[in-house]
Amino acid sequence: MIVLCNVNAIDTTLAHLREAGSRNCEGIVLWLGRRTPSAIHVEAVYRPAHVAREDMFHIPPASMTALQAELRQRRLMVAAQVHSHPLEAFHSRADDQWAIIRHEGALSLVIPYFASQTTTGTFLKDAKVYQFSANAKWTEVPSKEVSSSWLQIK
Ligand SMILES: [Zn+2]
Repeated sequence: MIVLCNVNAIDTTLAHLREAGSRNCEGIVLWLGRRTPSAIHVEAVYRPAHVAREDMFHIPPASMTALQAELRQRRLMVAAQVHSHPLEAFHSRADDQWAIIRHEGALSLVIPYFASQTTTGTFLKDAKVYQFSANAKWTEVPSKEVSSSWLQIK
C-alpha cells in the first residue's frame, strides 16, 4: 500500500539525519502512520533512542518497548524506517538483518551522505527505497516505481 508523507515530515526527517551526521553518526527515524483503505498516511516522525556510530546503529530493547507503547497509545503503525549513511545509500547486511518492521510492503529508506546533500525537493531522487517483500526479503524499489506505487510526498 502506498505511503503518503507530507513535506513537513520530510523536513523533520532530514533535520534529524543531518543532526546525527554533524556528529558523524548514522541517523535513524521511524515514520509512524495510520492505515486507511487506500493508503498509509505518515502522521509522526519518531526518533527512537538508539546507539549510533559512523556505520551502524542499534536500538536497545527498552527503546523498542517505548516505541510499542507509543504505537498503542496513538494507534499508529510503523510505516517506514529511514536512516542515513556516511556515503552511498544501500541496504547493508546489518540493515537487512536488523529491521524494526517486517510486514509486507513496509518501507526502508536509506539517505546518502548523512542527508547533507538532500532537500525535500530531492528526497525521492536521493533516497534508496526498499520494500519488505512477500518472500520476507528487503528488495530495492526501482526509482521510477517509487512515486507511482510506494511513496508520495504531499
Ligand atoms: Zn544502513
